[in-house]
Amino acid sequence: MTYRELLKESAVLKDEGRLLLMALMDWDLTAFLDRADSEASPSDVIRFWEAVKQREAHVPLQHITGKAPFYGRDFMVNGSVLIPRFDTEILVYEALKEIRKRQDQAEGEAEVLDLCTGSGCIAVTLRLEGAAGRITASDLSPEALETARKNAELLGASDIDFVLSDMFSGISGQFDLIVSNPPYIPDDVIRTLDPEVKEHDPYMALSGGEDGLVFYRIIAAEAGRHLKKGGRLFLEIGHDQGKSVSELLNKHHFTDIRVIQDLNGKDRVITCSTDLKIF
Ligand code: GLN
Repeated sequence: MTYRELLKESAVLKDEGRLLLMALMDWDLTAFLDRADSEASPSDVIRFWEAVKQREAHVPLQHITGKAPFYGRDFMVNGSVLIPRFDTEILVYEALKEIRKRQDQAEGEAEVLDLCTGSGCIAVTLRLEGAAGRITASDLSPEALETARKNAELLGASDIDFVLSDMFSGISGQFDLIVSNPPYIPDDVIRTLDPEVKEHDPYMALSGGEDGLVFYRIIAAEAGRHLKKGGRLFLEIGHDQGKSVSELLNKHHFTDIRVIQDLNGKDRVITCSTDLKIF
């Protein structure tokens, strides 16, 4: 049986079948096309079918292949971190614009804190896309932090301080930017999600408590103390949380609050400033 025929038999997975095969064989697209009509070895056939069975049992593709693409790079993932989502790339893009603006205005290199770093996809990408100041990345989970550390090492993102911390409790000092994609899904919504998400992403990386806002309340109350004057917050939010998170930030005296949409036109990022240093 050729690799092409093998794929035909896994047609139920559509494009994911090819991605799965390429990842298992460690092939790029050229390698796959070169070999598509050659005979598949019996061990490759078995390996592929085992992976297909896992996928049919709703194990996410990224957990089978052990990696997830984010901002043009592959991040190592496992059951202790949230699989990076493309929606989060918007947060990185917006934070990078702010970092570059500060570089252009010769304000020096921005110091950045990434709260709830998970796989490290935000902190690592910021470093590799040109953020040259001190970067601190924190998470409550030691396993997540270990994964983030490995991603930084594998992708060559140097000098990121990884800190085990429950939100701000282990964070000292002040930053120019605080970025975060905190858990924000209301608990009763988690029950309605696909099995790939609710059974495989860590619950602690999804759950924002009963109303989804638990971590925004902590951030709104405490981020001011950890931002320099004129510092900015960049938070990912759920598509229907723009109003409630804006209100929380406004209550805690943040200014210039802006909601930014993702590529699907849904509210996805909120940014605000601490122009008035009254914290
Ligand atoms: N910061 C990580 C990400 O954006 C993890 C977020 C989380 O666990 N809620 O993917």
